[in-house]
Amino acid sequence: MPGTLYIVATPIGNLEDLSARALRVLSEVELVACEDTRRTRTLLNHFGIKTKTISYHEHNERERAAELCGLLEAGKDIAIVSDAGTPLISDPGFRIVRAAIERGLSIIPVPGPAAFVAALVASGLPSEQFFFAGFLPARAGARRKQLEELRSTRATLVFYEAPHRIAATLKDAAAIFGNRLAAVARELTKLHEETVRGSLAELAQRFSGTVRGEIVLMIAGAGADESTPTVASSDAEMLPNELIKRVRKLEEDGLDSKAALKRAARELGLKRAEAYRIIVAQKNRRSR
Ligand code: SAM
Repeated sequence: MPGTLYIVATPIGNLEDLSARALRVLSEVELVACEDTRRTRTLLNHFGIKTKTISYHEHNERERAAELCGLLEAGKDIAIVSDAGTPLISDPGFRIVRAAIERGLSIIPVPGPAAFVAALVASGLPSEQFFFAGFLPARAGARRKQLEELRSTRATLVFYEAPHRIAATLKDAAAIFGNRLAAVARELTKLHEETVRGSLAELAQRFSGTVRGEIVLMIAGAGADESTPTVASSDAEMLPNELIKRVRKLEEDGLDSKAALKRAARELGLKRAEAYRIIVAQKNRRSR
């Protein structure tokens, strides 16, 4: 009997996101094909998994795909993983899947984290239809051209972006798409996780300095409902309520009022002074 190729999703930051099934499959297969064996070994060690690893990355994909298909045909089960998230999603894996299909081998996905799904569902932008565009080109001219090509797409646009390019991309996006609603998800599932929602101009301003971490950028599609619920600072009613609710909750959790305001402001993508002004205005309005 030929073996099975399992495509296994792994965490994008928080190790608790490795599914029970992924854990079992990674323990049971003969070999784990990884983008970076050292990184995956750290993950496997964390869970006490002793399975052998082999490298499978963009520079050896072609030869390795043939080699691994040979092992599958010889009856060995193999799992493929990437450094984080779902293999083949802006990561290696496509060639081995194609090669396995051509040889009639069985392929089973073991679903789990993918940064763009996590980012989209928390963005507040329409999720019925979306267009995942992966990474934009690094060169400014090619990047602008691609953004131009996407201008009339009605689905929500989703991009992976490097921290050192997000400022330039947001600036270009604001120039090309106008002031559409957008969201930046940064460091999802990690300690400094944040989702900042607002117009492209607001986000371009917010991310104009040094930015760190891993980023997903989402932009509302052409003709999307402008009143999509977000915490954009243009939303006069929703933002104060959201802010006050969050400050109260943080205070209940034990933070003093200054720390609670600071944290809530950061989470909602506001400057501390702006958050303070909103709270004072809201209190004044209520006492009238
Ligand atoms: N295969 C992965 C997946 O399923 O999401 C994506 C791999 S791609 C090489 C890496 C990019 O994914 C990062 O540059 C960033 O844009 C996005 N990404 C990965 N982890 C993330 C996280 N924790 N928070 C935000 N974006 C993340």
